[in-house]
Amino acid sequence: MVDLVLRSRRVLTGDDERPAAVAITGEKIVAVVGYQDPVEAGAEHDLGDTALLPGLVDTHVHVNEPGRTEWEGFATATRAAAAGGVTTIIDMPLNSLPPTVDAGALRVKQRAATGQIHIDVGFWGGVVPGNAGELTALHDAGVFGFKAFLADSGVPEFPPVSPAELTAALTAVDALFVVHAEDPAHLVTPAASTAYADFLASRPAAAEHAAIATAIDASRATGRRVHILHLSAAAALPLISAARAEGVRVTAETCPHYLTLDARHIPDGATEYKCCPPIRDAANADALWRALADGLITCVVSDHSPCTPELKRRDTGDFAAAWGGIASVQLGLPVIWTAARERGHRLGDVVEWMARRPADLVGLPAKGRIAPGADADLVAFDPEATFTVDPRRLHHRHPVTPYAGKVLHGVVRATWLRGRSVTAEEAGGRLLTREG
Ligand SMILES: [Zn+2]
Repeated sequence: MVDLVLRSRRVLTGDDERPAAVAITGEKIVAVVGYQDPVEAGAEHDLGDTALLPGLVDTHVHVNEPGRTEWEGFATATRAAAAGGVTTIIDMPLNSLPPTVDAGALRVKQRAATGQIHIDVGFWGGVVPGNAGELTALHDAGVFGFKAFLADSGVPEFPPVSPAELTAALTAVDALFVVHAEDPAHLVTPAASTAYADFLASRPAAAEHAAIATAIDASRATGRRVHILHLSAAAALPLISAARAEGVRVTAETCPHYLTLDARHIPDGATEYKCCPPIRDAANADALWRALADGLITCVVSDHSPCTPELKRRDTGDFAAAWGGIASVQLGLPVIWTAARERGHRLGDVVEWMARRPADLVGLPAKGRIAPGADADLVAFDPEATFTVDPRRLHHRHPVTPYAGKVLHGVVRATWLRGRSVTAEEAGGRLLTREG
C-alpha cells in the first residue's frame, strides 16, 4: 500500500520516456512500475498523454531577499518557480543584503526564507576580496559552493576578485567554485544608447574568452572544480573543450536567453533583454546548441535576476543605465522545450539539461530524477499544448520579460514537491544544505 500513484504514458525516467506508474510513499518515490500495473494506493491520478517529469533543478537564481526584496523575494520567486515546473533552486550570494559571504550572512538568508518558500531552496556562498578566511566555515554551514566575479558584479557590496585572489580562494577550501567569467580588461563602459548593438559591443566575446582562460588556469593550478556560469560566447567553447581533454575539472552552463534570442532582433530600448554577458547573434546560439548536444555545455539554468521596472529603465530605454538581468524562472522549461523540439531534441534531453545534470552539479542525488529513492518532486507537463506568454500570469514580483507575446510549446499542469501538490497558499519548501 502506497500513498499516491501517478500514471502517465510519458514518464521521463533517465533520458528515456515510457508509459509507467510512479508510486510514492511519504516524500519519496518508492517504485516505478508498468503503466497498467495494479498498485494499492491511497490516491491515484492517470495523466494520460500528459508527461510526468522530475521537478527541474535551477542552480542559478537571484532571490534578492533580504535587502532588495522590492526586486524579488522568496515567496514570489518560489511560486514562479513552481508554476514553471522548478522544484529546487540554489540562490546566488549577491544582490541580497547582506551578501552570502560568511556563515552569519547565510543564517540571515535562511531565516528570511523560512516559512515562505513553496519549493526547496539551497544557497551558494560568495568569494569577495578579503573573505578567504570565512570560506571553510561557510562551506561547513551548508552552502553548495562559491561564486566569484572577475568583473564588476553590478552591486558595490560584492566586488570582483583578481586572478590571484581567485586562486587563493580555490586553495582555501575544497569546494565547487562557480565563476561569472567576463574579464574587465576587455569591457568598455557603454555610452547612453537605446540601441542594443552599442551595449553588445561593450561586452565582446573576448571578455568571456579571457576570463574563462583565467578560471581554467586557477582550476588547473589547484585541482578544484570550476563551473563557468551563464556561458554566452560560443568562441570560448574550444578553450573549455581543450581544458577538459587535458583533465581540468571545468564544466559550463548556459541559459534560455542565450539559446533562443537573437541580438539582431532586439528592439530599440527593449531593456528587458539586457543581461551580462549579453545575448549574441543566432549563429552564436547555434554553436551553443551544438555544444549542449555534445555534452560540452552540461546544463541549462535560468539566471533569474529581476529588479524593479524603474531600474530596468523602460522609461528611457537606455541600455547603459538599465540593470542587467532577465527574469525567467517560470518560463525556462517551455522556452527551451519549444526551441529544442524544433531542433529535433527529445523531451528527455531537456530533462537531462534542466533537472538531472544541475542536481548532479551541486550533489543532490535525490533531486532531478524519477527513480526509486528519489524525492517525489514531479511535474505534469503537456508538451503538445501551446500558450502565449502573458506577463500578467507571471508570479515573480515584477512581470518584466523579453518573452512577452511569444507562443510557446509546453504547459505545466501541476507540480508536486516531496509527494505533496504545490499550491500558492502553502509554503511547503525546505531549506537545503550541501550533503556530505
Ligand atoms: Zn546570475
